[in-house]
Parts: sequence; structure tokens; C-alpha cells
Amino acid sequence: MILSILQYGDPILRAKGKQIEQIDEHIRELAANMVETMHAANGVGLAAQQVGEALQLTVLDVSQVEDRPSTLKLNGNDVDPAASMPLVLINPEIELGGEAEIGTEGCLSFPEITGQIERAASTKVRAQNLEGDKIEIEASGLLARAIQHEVDHLNGILFIDRMNSAAKAALSSRLKRLQKQTKRGKRIRPQDERELVSETTL
Ligand code: ZN
Repeated sequence: MILSILQYGDPILRAKGKQIEQIDEHIRELAANMVETMHAANGVGLAAQQVGEALQLTVLDVSQVEDRPSTLKLNGNDVDPAASMPLVLINPEIELGGEAEIGTEGCLSFPEITGQIERAASTKVRAQNLEGDKIEIEASGLLARAIQHEVDHLNGILFIDRMNSAAKAALSSRLKRLQKQTKRGKRIRPQDERELVSETTL
């Protein structure tokens, strides 16, 4: 089932996600719906907060993005990132590595807004999958960026918080308008969602 994606201005986007104690039917169904919703919106990641649940749960899929490569190690073994998608991460704990890199990001909760965001070049994540198994992921490239963006969501942090002050100032009237529209219950649809894929919408 495709869920509606909350937009900037909704207070749930600022809520820290609760740890998931038990992976039950609700969590399995929510994760499946989040994957379907992310694919339908041409996003590469989606956090539970974005569909109205403040939980430590996120889904990712970078397999459709060809111009921004990723690497992935799963439990210490190199694997093909595209073949390992979608990823479902429950209760992720993240460690940042490598140099800082600046790259373009968008967010499904901020239609038609993108920014240049500094992120660590690589990440290590310990999490659980839907089977409850502990997994360890080491990622670089687009996947490392996407994981950092999503784990931020799980802690109530949004990509605009990581923009420099000049970029944020330049966006301020659009952000205020979006916030107002969200409070009035109006949603903005991107004019052409396909356009945003290469720009990384998470
Ligand atoms: Zn986002």
C-alpha cells in the first residue's frame, strides 16, 4: 500500500524515533509499505517519520541511480549494492568515516528543494533486518550519503539543518511557504518526479 509522505512543517518529522523492541506484523507491513511508497515516489530512501511513525526504521534503494555509484559490505563481505536492495534497517547505529564530501540531496518531504550537503564519505552501520538478525553494513558513495540522511530523519534531523546559512537563507521563503501549506493540509506534488532521481531524493 502506498502511504502518504509527510511534508516539512509536520511535527512528526522532528520527533526522535522510538527503538523497535519487537519485529511484529505491524513492523513488517509498515516496512513493506514504506518500500512500495519509496519506489512509487522515485526516492532512494524513506524514514518512518516521513510516513507518520516515529520509529527507528528506514528503507533504502539506490539500485536505480546509475550516475552516482555506491559500494557495500554486508557483514564484512563485499556485495553488489544493486542486488542487495531494498535495504531495511531497524534500530540503526551509525559510525562515520572517511573525508567529508559535499553532494546534492533532495528529500521526499521537501518537494522540489535540493541542497549541497556535507556528509562523511563512508559509514558503518549496525542494525537489525526484518528477520531480527543483527547486520553490519559498510557503505560508501551514494549509499553512505543516503544512510546518513535517513538516520538523521530517525533522530528528527532534516537536511536543511545541515545546509550552510547562506543556502538556508536563500530557501527561507520557500520553506516558510511549504510549512504554511503543510499546516493548511495542502500537499505539493513535484512536477516531474523522475527529474529528481538523479538528484537523490531521500
Ligand atoms: Zn529525507
